Amino acid sequence: MRYVSTRGQSPSVGFVDAILAGLAPDGGLYVPEEWPTFSHEEIAAFAGKPYAEVATAVLGRFTGDEIPAEILADMCAEAYASFTHAAVTPLVQIAPGGFLAELHHGPSLAFKDVAMQLLARLSDHVLGLQKRTQTILCATSGDTGGAAVEAFRGRANTRIVAMFPDGRISEVQRRFMTTAAESNVRCVAVAGTFDDCQTILKQALSDQSLKQSVGLSAVNSINFARIVAQSVYYFTTAVALGAPHREVSFAVPSGNFGDGFAGYVAKRMGLPIARIVIATNSNDILARAFEEGRYVRGAVAATQSPAMDIQSASNFERLYYECVRRDGVETARAFKAFNETGVIDIPPQALTLMRETFTGVAVGEGDTTRTIVATLNETGELIDPHTAVAVAAFRRLRDHTAPVVILSTAHAAKFPEAVHAATGETPAMPRKAQSLAGKPERYDRLPADAEVIKAYVRAFAEA
Ligand SMILES: *Cc1c(COP(=O)(O)O)cnc(C)c1O
Repeated sequence: MRYVSTRGQSPSVGFVDAILAGLAPDGGLYVPEEWPTFSHEEIAAFAGKPYAEVATAVLGRFTGDEIPAEILADMCAEAYASFTHAAVTPLVQIAPGGFLAELHHGPSLAFKDVAMQLLARLSDHVLGLQKRTQTILCATSGDTGGAAVEAFRGRANTRIVAMFPDGRISEVQRRFMTTAAESNVRCVAVAGTFDDCQTILKQALSDQSLKQSVGLSAVNSINFARIVAQSVYYFTTAVALGAPHREVSFAVPSGNFGDGFAGYVAKRMGLPIARIVIATNSNDILARAFEEGRYVRGAVAATQSPAMDIQSASNFERLYYECVRRDGVETARAFKAFNETGVIDIPPQALTLMRETFTGVAVGEGDTTRTIVATLNETGELIDPHTAVAVAAFRRLRDHTAPVVILSTAHAAKFPEAVHAATGETPAMPRKAQSLAGKPERYDRLPADAEVIKAYVRAFAEA
């Protein structure tokens, strides 16, 4: 399987190069040259299979012969053994026709574990074959850092430096990073904001000499391996509810649109998905794009669901490319213009194609809080604010005939303050995460200065 850039100006590459590169040289995102498909019979045969087996089958269509099947199967088995639920992403019914898919049973209690656990194993394996090492620099506003440290700690060919804004993430989020004792992990509390951390990351990644000397890389959600890993639970949950013999819909709490696009990938692969509802908080760029046909950047507002406080959804470029019928020149034009003007007017035919699958719903803070309370009252389930955004969007749907899977992207115990403020209850921390409280923390405090951080990364890589 070859991968092409959404901007059409880079040569095609294989799976391994696509996942190690991140962005394509022309600034675009990699997508497969064509979408692999499963027949109805193949999808029906996923029923009752262990999650890791379905993951192996789905990933195998994208890795082709670059990763031997037995090695891929071992990686999937190991990655999903790190989850504390035997079903990996179990379904819990919360309403007639409404089912939570709990994606938060991984080591850092957020759905980013699903993809990161696999990406870490895939990339470390490939680096070993090529006798190379890499240094991952990660800027986190909370969840990504914990998932990345959990996934890469102790790996032979990868070092990881996780930067977070000092004093601006929760204690639980910080401890998921800072209690890792492995020597390939460093955590840095940056005296600044998350935006400062992201700017430093961009400056480090554009420093070619640093990039070469330490094998600098990032793990953001534009990595295609992360997308495919997320397509897997669309298959397992839909099949559990009767697919492919009946259609299933999804409600997805969205920020960077990686998760929503993973649903589109599952649909292109043959899964009968009726509708994907893209639920946003008040940072509603995606909801407006699908509803109004204009993709317009706004100012970022802080909400109870911080992992979705995003006003430019990187993976939207992949959908745009598909819906302008893979016209790389047009995609490059649109997204270069977006960088400057913050606006894309979606061509009418492309919008029609998008609307065949996607509906956008924006949910305000009051509605999010009321949904946490209503869900507790009606079902006894405590949900986190990200999940609540998608449940609120589900509750607004009127005419759904297909069952709806609502993706539950974080455990309530990861956002105890918001859940307590809404309900007066403090969610219980899962057993495995309780030990974090007693472990010693290890991190360095550095100024928000790209040169200082770059020197720190270099020293760590050369030590
Ligand atoms: C990252 C994240 C999201 C948003 O996912 P995208 O793929 O960026 O759309 C939603 N909920 C939680 C808890 C997250 O960590």
